Amino acid sequence: MNIFHYQELYEKWSQDAKKIASMYQTPVTSKKFRMWVYDLQVRYPQIQIRTLAYTISGNEIIEVRVGEGPVQLHLNAGMHANESICTNLLMAFISQYLFVLYCKSEDHSEFHRMFCKFTLSFVPLINPDGIDLLYDPKAIPYDLYERALQIGQNCIEVTQWKANICGVDLNNQFPAVWEKIFTLPFKVNKPAPRDFPGYAPLTENEALALYDLVYQNQFQAVLCLHTQGEEFYWGFLDYEPDLSQIQAELFEAVSGYRAVRTIESYGGFKDWFILTFQKPGFTIEVGSGINPLPLSDFEVCRKKVNEILFSYLFFYV
Ligand SMILES: [Zn+2]
Repeated sequence: MNIFHYQELYEKWSQDAKKIASMYQTPVTSKKFRMWVYDLQVRYPQIQIRTLAYTISGNEIIEVRVGEGPVQLHLNAGMHANESICTNLLMAFISQYLFVLYCKSEDHSEFHRMFCKFTLSFVPLINPDGIDLLYDPKAIPYDLYERALQIGQNCIEVTQWKANICGVDLNNQFPAVWEKIFTLPFKVNKPAPRDFPGYAPLTENEALALYDLVYQNQFQAVLCLHTQGEEFYWGFLDYEPDLSQIQAELFEAVSGYRAVRTIESYGGFKDWFILTFQKPGFTIEVGSGINPLPLSDFEVCRKKVNEILFSYLFFYV
């Protein structure tokens, strides 16, 4: 099967996809997210739901695992609090994917054959505390809320808050040349709404949960959804394999997002994955504007994210 054949099938299928995805076009909180996951589990008992860890406020960090095929891929979203639209987008993708995978109609049989090869590990909401802080603060234990208020200097500013509830940027928490992170001019050295990498790597449960998950599996690639720039990053200090560039060219062609080999960054999840395993890792910035992106951007982003994620899968078929 070539990619043109796949695109043709996808076009036919995407009519259903839009309808399925629309239920995720509402603001997410940790409570809403748990309901979405529960709903998926009821509709698709074949999937596996697992709590990887708990956050400091007691929220679960949930993995949704689909399939039992030999090709293991990992996808995540919701690492930055004010980028919660990525959780909506990844949930929409999972729901569409499950529809195609388990729907018995003739139209979808070809996708079914293709997707049988995969085990997909999704962590759609890595930072539930940060998202509750912005959108459902009553769900946060009061002492943690008070501390967050102090970190934000008496204000929880939705456009600024990327961190977890302890004021640590989770995408700076991974041991990828972490010692150089404070050489970046915009990093701060104490808990803050954004850009504080922690006092050491992996101090936060959320980051440690992903780290452990990766070591417990043999993922062939990882892909993380973030929001700003309509571009994606695919390299880290030349540790990425040749395959990364080939995939990057495909993603750029199908989505129109700009492929950027590296920006100066250390301590990111995809940085760490590339450095440690020399396998492909991607950070996709799905939209542009001021965070948080409005849910009115959902449909435009959904189409592009689908293009990327399906071409990502296609690569391993
Ligand atoms: Zn981000």
